Amino acid sequence: MAKLKGHNAADIKNRNLSVIIRTIKKAEMISRTELADETGLSNPAVGNLVAELVQLGLVREMGSVNQPVGRSRVLLTLNDESVQVIGIEIARNGVYGVLADMKGTPIATSEKSFAPGSTSDIVLGALYEVIGETFTSTKQRKAPLIGIGIGTPGPVNVEKGKVFEPPNFPGLQNVSLKHIIEERYHAPCYLNDDARTSALGEAWFGAGQDVSSLVFISLGEGIGSGVIFDHHLYEGTHDIAGQIGHFTVEPKGRRCDCGNIGCLETLASIPAIAWRARTSGVVDACDVSDGTVVLRLVDAYHSGEPGARKLFDETLDYIVTAVVSAINSYDPEMVVLGGRLVRTYPEMVDIVRRRVVARCYYHIANDLRIVASQLGPKTSALGAIVLLLQRLLYEPVATLEAAVRW
Ligand SMILES: [Zn+2]
Repeated sequence: MAKLKGHNAADIKNRNLSVIIRTIKKAEMISRTELADETGLSNPAVGNLVAELVQLGLVREMGSVNQPVGRSRVLLTLNDESVQVIGIEIARNGVYGVLADMKGTPIATSEKSFAPGSTSDIVLGALYEVIGETFTSTKQRKAPLIGIGIGTPGPVNVEKGKVFEPPNFPGLQNVSLKHIIEERYHAPCYLNDDARTSALGEAWFGAGQDVSSLVFISLGEGIGSGVIFDHHLYEGTHDIAGQIGHFTVEPKGRRCDCGNIGCLETLASIPAIAWRARTSGVVDACDVSDGTVVLRLVDAYHSGEPGARKLFDETLDYIVTAVVSAINSYDPEMVVLGGRLVRTYPEMVDIVRRRVVARCYYHIANDLRIVASQLGPKTSALGAIVLLLQRLLYEPVATLEAAVRW
């Protein structure tokens, strides 16, 4: 059981610095007096804390606004260019990297692809190339690099920064990735499951910027998900919380890789939909990819072909069942649907919303927000930078002390 810990003076100061920087972020522009009103801290305390954040380079003054009575007030804002952060997305067919500032604005990107099923030498080689290229870009800008965030196929151990055995990914099996990257680049590294980093991306920069809790579900080759509570990822005791792809939606269904039976992923991932379409004879396409089968199924669904309508309606009902269970489990402000299936057939978001509303507690039906992902296929890399930005906002001094400088 975790020990209860007290707070010494340094802890309290760090907490207050965090409160001030997060309040400035939320307000975008705010005066010292308003900060004192917002936070309940005294004016002198706010003055000292702001001075320290200005000294660290994280906050800057925006000039002053004249008031009808009294002194003009100076507005404060975050200095978005004061730090740099690298976000990496590792996929089964390549690595994508983005160098961004505190606001998530991309400064440089890098991408290397490899064949699915590649060995660890090739996968790690691509990863080093992408990080190397983005590193070169950081040196041109001089601002401290607060670290490298990585979104990777899971399962993962977040605390140890280890990737276990992602299915269909021989190039990344039982790898202590955080340790490898920190040794090689001497920069802090944090990682998480790619669907979770995508959830963070949507929460900070995409569809969920105005909510504090959301459930993100990525419907694609697999079905990943992430749950955000109070702007933070909900990870659970063993880093498996919020695995909506492994909710049972068919009690008599097939056994899944996770050990459970009838998981959403066994019925509504792109390979699962293609398998169901092929075995039921709805789509006659043995020699084409799973993605092409699903495209043909969607076309047939649109044109009202009865077999396609039945199969795709069943698929949508499986998804609806899982979304309703997710809402009843986590009661989020918003559900964000993303991934290749949603990009293939964006209209499905409206259909899912209507069916979910018909199955949810009636008193929340009008409040339900079920929307499409706004960030597209590179959400995970952008979300991975949030793993570092959150640390900056909650522990600004320690995060800057650990940063790489030139
Ligand atoms: Zn499962």
